[in-house]
Amino acid sequence: MIKMAQETLLEIDLPALKSNFEYLRSKIKPSTKFMAVVKAYAYGSDASQIAGYLEKLDVDYFAVAYTEEGIALRKAGITKPILVLHPLPVHFKEIITYKLEPSLYSFKTLNDFLKAAENEKQYPVHLKFNSGLNRLGFKKQDADKIITLLNNSESVSVTSVFSHLMASEDSNEKDFTLQQINIFKEISIKLIDKLKNKPLLHILNTSGILNYADIAQFDMVRSGIGLYGFGNDEKYNPFLKPVVSLKSVISQIHEIEKGESVGYNRGFVAKSSMRTATVPLGHADGIGRQYGQGKSFLTVHGQKCPIVGNVCMDMLMIDVTNVACEEGDEILVFGQNPTASEFASWAGTISYELISAISQRVKREIIF
Ligand SMILES: *Cc1c(COP(=O)(O)O)cnc(C)c1O
Repeated sequence: MIKMAQETLLEIDLPALKSNFEYLRSKIKPSTKFMAVVKAYAYGSDASQIAGYLEKLDVDYFAVAYTEEGIALRKAGITKPILVLHPLPVHFKEIITYKLEPSLYSFKTLNDFLKAAENEKQYPVHLKFNSGLNRLGFKKQDADKIITLLNNSESVSVTSVFSHLMASEDSNEKDFTLQQINIFKEISIKLIDKLKNKPLLHILNTSGILNYADIAQFDMVRSGIGLYGFGNDEKYNPFLKPVVSLKSVISQIHEIEKGESVGYNRGFVAKSSMRTATVPLGHADGIGRQYGQGKSFLTVHGQKCPIVGNVCMDMLMIDVTNVACEEGDEILVFGQNPTASEFASWAGTISYELISAISQRVKREIIF
């Protein structure tokens, strides 16, 4: 049973997560492995709840961005393999202690990890190649030197080789994406030929699964945003369900006269008499100032009420002049309607940024 929110709450709908996982799974072959990306607190939701739930479904792998995130999952009892996408050498000993699997993306990380793992046998590592994003990863030309280093060591074993697409959601960039896939193929062929064992290959993220599963699913796919209900294209909305809904409550209502102002810096001045509602949600909760000044709306009893003036650290004010509401009434920020993706677009950003920024201060409520 879903209760009415009496405070600011982020609801996490696990059945919706299951349905998204099944939809994404249906897009790939049964033999292709599925890596669930649960970095950044599972995109701002609750990484241990989400990973714990997905571990019981047939997810093969987890990915986090940083070592600390992987350690938190191990402490929460997650036992499946965890790839750390962006580990820093200072954490390599902890990576080993917690049986996390590092992505090695440069000669510094490769050499440092070989040193950290010198007493290990065949420790699983992953090689990240840059195929165009120019963010993290070895270059194609580095392959020979990597092979020599690895074939001279017994301490590590390459479990997978991967790369990341930069515009898999954008059909105008299809040529670029195909070029990235080709570069990745060339690299993989060389590595498979020369390495002692055969690594898993993977390049597709959520939009990659939705748009390129026929040509580039290789051995595994990595999905984050799709699990949380977004396909980066409206045409996938009927198939994916938003997992997180942000709700809050009216803490106080004010009757305002024409000419009075609302919020810091007199950010809003009433043009006529009106009613505002104060909501216990601010930029410290993840609703930044860019959402203020009438750009976005909170939903009260199904009606859209603009945020007036500037968003404060702990609260914001909305115009409820035309809505019959009272103190204590529930407010929807985003969820089914509007979705986080629509809400984010009002402030010129994307679902990824909005949901991953909901701060730890906001209470999480799990729906089983
Ligand atoms: C975050 C991330 C993903 C997940 O991407 P989605 O678009 O959320 O599916 C996959 N791979 C890498 C390397 C990432 O950093």
